[in-house]
Amino acid sequence: MRFEHESLPQRVCFGAGEAAALVRAEVERLGAARLMVIAAPAEAGLAEKTTVGLPVAVRFDEVVMHVPVEVAERARAAAARHEADLIVSVGGGSTTGLAKAVALTSGLPIVAVPTTYAGSEATSVWGLTERARKTTGVDARVLPRSVVYDATLTLSLPVPMSVASGLNALAHCVDTMWAPRADPINSAFAVEGIRALTSGLPTVAAEPGGLAGREVLLYGAYLSARAFSSAGSGLHHKICHVLGGACDLPHAQTHAVVLPYVLAFNAAAAPEAERRMAVAFGTASAVEGLRQLRSAVDAPRALRDYGFGEADIEAVIPAILKAVPVGNPRPVTAGELRQLLRAAWRGDDPQVIMAEEGGA
Ligand code: NAD
Repeated sequence: MRFEHESLPQRVCFGAGEAAALVRAEVERLGAARLMVIAAPAEAGLAEKTTVGLPVAVRFDEVVMHVPVEVAERARAAAARHEADLIVSVGGGSTTGLAKAVALTSGLPIVAVPTTYAGSEATSVWGLTERARKTTGVDARVLPRSVVYDATLTLSLPVPMSVASGLNALAHCVDTMWAPRADPINSAFAVEGIRALTSGLPTVAAEPGGLAGREVLLYGAYLSARAFSSAGSGLHHKICHVLGGACDLPHAQTHAVVLPYVLAFNAAAAPEAERRMAVAFGTASAVEGLRQLRSAVDAPRALRDYGFGEADIEAVIPAILKAVPVGNPRPVTAGELRQLLRAAWRGDDPQVIMAEEGGA
């Protein structure tokens, strides 16, 4: 074994029903006296409950997916005007993303309270969108100092969004297994993440009001983000990044749809990763494990259901080909990418990708 692994410095606090107490403890620990609370209008109630009694200097609720630069500028100006010394973000990946945009230029510490399974809270990756172009980068300043996970805050997340978001987390795990900086430590996080998400997703789908499944999903989402943040973007994330940026597709649903095709495409060329994922899914093969899981939770099925048109396929191929990681287990040609995207666009059985491989 020879590898180099960097662990990111962050406190993680877990406790169902304890968000307010845990956030208070983190704010005190960090010595903050003027909070900026970022939460979308839909999560305003959750944010209020979570920050009750704390010294809030400003609340900012203009949350937009993929963080447009103009919104980031307004949030930065509000933080400066109100002399905020810490940000508390309560919401999904879009909300955490806005908090990161403020931290990127101000250096303000973040206490993140995630309400979806996107996992942005455990990465030092930021993203900003300017004139429909998304730029991402890595900066230690944007990594939240503390994360507070409280499963009661996810009870209101509707089942279809919970499923899409949980599969987004699963995609972090699967893609980690062949990502550019995959190593034994982030792979261990990834396979445990697959195990947790595979157990939590059907529980939440069957019993949305129960806490047990929601807690397991948050745990799996954290592991998935730790794995992904350390291993970097593999083929799956490169494809979804181009699709999301070029066609403005919904983030979690796009990941949920594309994942089985990338897994089917790479699986045979990555036998060790495939075997470990199959064990984590508890099935004979990883492809079969994901198939069973997706069918149990009625997963998002086709890109055409989310605004991706057949004509978009040709348009995205060159950008994806340019982004394919050099170490992907299997080389990717334009023809294979076309097949993969056509299958994902139609929602075909992912086995067609494997069959094509056999015939190639
Ligand atoms: P999101 O934050 O946009 O939330 C999706 C929807 O769910 C929104 O309408 C939101 O109001 C609603 N919602 C959130 N929590 C809820 C709750 N508890 N109850 C009811 N409704 C709730 O979507 P997302 O999938 O969480 O995040 C996507 C964004 O995060 C994308 O911009 C993506 O690029 C980014 N992201 C970044 C990283 C990173 O490492 N930087 C990682 C993952 C995702």
